[in-house]
Amino acid sequence: MKIAILSRSENLYSTRRLKEACIERGHEVDVIDTLHCYMDITSSRPAVRYHGEELPKYDAIVPRIGASITYYGTAVARQFEMMGTFNVNESVAISRSRDKLRSLQLLSRKGIGLPRTGFASKPDNIKDLIKNVGGAPLVIKLLEGTQGIGVVLADTAKAAESIIEAFMGLKANILVQEFVKEAGGADIRCLVIGGRVVAAMKRQGAEGEFRSNLHRGGTAEIVKLTKEERETAVNAAKVMGLNFCGVDLLRSNNGPMVMEVNSSPGLEGIESATGLDVAGKLVEFIEKNAKPNSTRTRGKG
Ligand code: ADP
Ligand code: MG
Repeated sequence: MKIAILSRSENLYSTRRLKEACIERGHEVDVIDTLHCYMDITSSRPAVRYHGEELPKYDAIVPRIGASITYYGTAVARQFEMMGTFNVNESVAISRSRDKLRSLQLLSRKGIGLPRTGFASKPDNIKDLIKNVGGAPLVIKLLEGTQGIGVVLADTAKAAESIIEAFMGLKANILVQEFVKEAGGADIRCLVIGGRVVAAMKRQGAEGEFRSNLHRGGTAEIVKLTKEERETAVNAAKVMGLNFCGVDLLRSNNGPMVMEVNSSPGLEGIESATGLDVAGKLVEFIEKNAKPNSTRTRGKG
């Protein structure tokens, strides 16, 4: 097959591993810098151009679109969809996953476990917003933060009020969330490919840190999932419409709770924690599923 990986750089661990896995399985693979693609939006003959030439027809693309380039990156991925190319994660699903609020709303409709969450633009009653998610301590999050930046723990209702007011003063979109204390500064990353959890790890935050992000000094180890955790991760991926994603769960007293679903999951942490060939599993998924013109959301934006 002819596969393209949309990525800013060949040198990123995940990109390198995906490229290797394609080659190992006898596929042709190009790494294409998403921001250097430009689009020819012509009636009936959409195309993607790159370095002065039209890109060839690929059987599949693997979008690795960082949070900072979501708008342009999803436009490029969408253009490939319009050309009938199989896209591992559809552009709409990527856009959906980038907005934490939108993701939680969709997950809540399907009854998937979530930390109780509130969202408000100009609440005239911040006290009630806080009370409604169970009071302090609580977590306040920027809607489009990543890598733990923009996630704050407020110990008291007073602190929560000040932080909410400060963020709102900056016109930042935030959500407030029940603090799942019993998770103990750890979360579970489930790597889902094609409706199956293919690898899972537990990430533990550094000493005194409630955020388990590896970028914030967390450490990772292999973990065995319960049946309920496995089902929750698979269902969350399905609701989001993602074939390849990282579903992050908190282990709460009320069962697994989904915190977020990441549409460009990093491979370095999970492959080194589990010793599994996750990149290879994605290529297997592509081999089985890449059919032309299979984007379900065509025409629906
Ligand atoms: P980011 O997108 O920046 O990674 P997350 O929502 O994943 O933001 O939060 C970062 C980390 O903070 C999580 O991995 C988790 O360890 C911790 N965390 C987030 N929300 C909660 C919560 N409601 N209760 C307990 N811990 C939380
Ligand atoms: Mg996270």
